[in-house]
Amino acid sequence: MEKKKVAIIGAGPAGLTAAYELAKKGHVVEVFEASQHVGGLSKTIDLWDQRVDLGPHRFFSNDTKVNEVWLEVVGKDYRMVDRLTRIYYKKKFYYYPLKPFDALKKLGIGTAFTCVMSYVKERIAPVKKDGSFETWVIGRFGYKLYSIFFKTYSEKLWGISCKELDEDFAAQRIKKLSLFSAVWNAMFSGGKTKHKTLVDQFAYPLDGTGMVYERMKTFVENNGGSVHLTTPVKKVNCKNGHVDSLELTNGEIRSYDHVISSMPITLLVNNMDEVPQKVIEANNQLKFRNTILVYLKVEGQEVFPDNWLYVHATDLEMGRITNFRNWVPEINNGQDSTIVALEYWAYDNDEIWNSTDDKLIALGTEELKKTGLVNGLEISDGYVIKIPKCYPVYQRGYKEPLKIVEEHLGSISGLSVIGRYGAFKYNNQDHSILMGILAAENIADGASNNLWEINTDYDDYQERSTITESGLSHE
Ligand SMILES: Cc1cc2nc3c(=O)[nH]c(=O)nc-3n(C[C@H](O)[C@H](O)[C@H](O)COP(=O)(O)OP(=O)(O)OC[C@H]3O[C@@H](n4cnc5c(N)ncnc54)[C@H](O)[C@@H]3O)c2cc1C
Repeated sequence: MEKKKVAIIGAGPAGLTAAYELAKKGHVVEVFEASQHVGGLSKTIDLWDQRVDLGPHRFFSNDTKVNEVWLEVVGKDYRMVDRLTRIYYKKKFYYYPLKPFDALKKLGIGTAFTCVMSYVKERIAPVKKDGSFETWVIGRFGYKLYSIFFKTYSEKLWGISCKELDEDFAAQRIKKLSLFSAVWNAMFSGGKTKHKTLVDQFAYPLDGTGMVYERMKTFVENNGGSVHLTTPVKKVNCKNGHVDSLELTNGEIRSYDHVISSMPITLLVNNMDEVPQKVIEANNQLKFRNTILVYLKVEGQEVFPDNWLYVHATDLEMGRITNFRNWVPEINNGQDSTIVALEYWAYDNDEIWNSTDDKLIALGTEELKKTGLVNGLEISDGYVIKIPKCYPVYQRGYKEPLKIVEEHLGSISGLSVIGRYGAFKYNNQDHSILMGILAAENIADGASNNLWEINTDYDDYQERSTITESGLSHE
């Protein structure tokens, strides 16, 4: 076998999985990571003697290859966690995924009736679909349920009107959620399905989500590869349409047979030489949304029972709250305090993105108290992490410029582009892991997987798959 020399930009799930798979097959890999940690958005950090992720990180996948790699790395060092997630709206907590009778009861008879009527209206005279998230969700659930359970949260998250948001977002994330089957289950199975589904449980590593990627790093290093932390890549150099070398920000230049990039696609393109004007213009149209995480240390153990809560309330700026006490006990490390993380979303020029940590901690503390969730418990400390380019924004019309950029990058041989901001795909870990596996197959086995097509059209609504089928069980 010819040993290939492969450089990988980024040590997140996409990059490290590619490195792991290539190292397994005997190739020489070098990973370059800008930060001092591996795991990217899926890293786990130490905070106040506990372990916490960057917001909630539940692993789930229907893909056999993804589950095999995950289990190979994690072994038995995970637990199945009972899932509880609810929506906070008008001072009430609604189960999510929605339980129809719970939702209708909490909404009150008048609103419940309007929800049912607007759902019926949609079945008789459907809204005209215009490719937006708004008409997609109205078409599925009716206007009233859309306005309560989808509109406010989505507009907080994306910072644009749901009319401006592409329906791809809905197609990827809520594709087969059917109100009819939810009602059917609630009525005829006493709310219980035959198998536990990912609605009920998920797998979580004992040392936090980042454990998976820390182990992949160790494997790569033990198998002839290297992972360079705090080593950002500046640019990818090409010669005659083929990848030639990488230039690091310290000026060093290194040559490779192949480069796999999971750095932001916009930076990759902007820093390359001889990019046609049309591609530069298309690239400039791709937008990202940032995340601010405000961690608060709450002095007490019984805060609220959910893994995380979605905050639809319009009088609160935060969009989601994670309670790390309710994942696996190992990450709480026997501490009496509970760490919660509040998520805020922003664009670069928004005031909140440019606020000081102290102001953000004060805002988070005030908002958390307002929900009534901490019930007089003391909030003794705060910590802020700002994540730029956290979400690729599926604004209507984004596909045309993305296609132009994809075609340009696709024309460079020896270059594979993968990952969440790497390929401008709203990926979960499993999608990025899959991209890493398939990119490695292309290089090591001469496969011709189309990496651009992953996570554009998922057939199964993953929430409805069963854990027994996914293989995430040692039974
Ligand atoms: C709040 C939140 C909640 C989430 N919840 C879930 C969940 O419940 N389940 C789930 O599966 N997923 C979840 N995700 C998504 C998951 O974190 C990502 O899908 C995953 O981490 C993407 O992996 P990636 O490798 O594609 O990109 P990233 O994780 O972004 O990794 C990219 C890496 O590239 C590095 N890099 C960037 N530029 C350079 C450069 N120039 N040179 C070198 N290195 C560079 C970065 O530092 C980073 O380490 C969540 C994400 C967030 C933010």
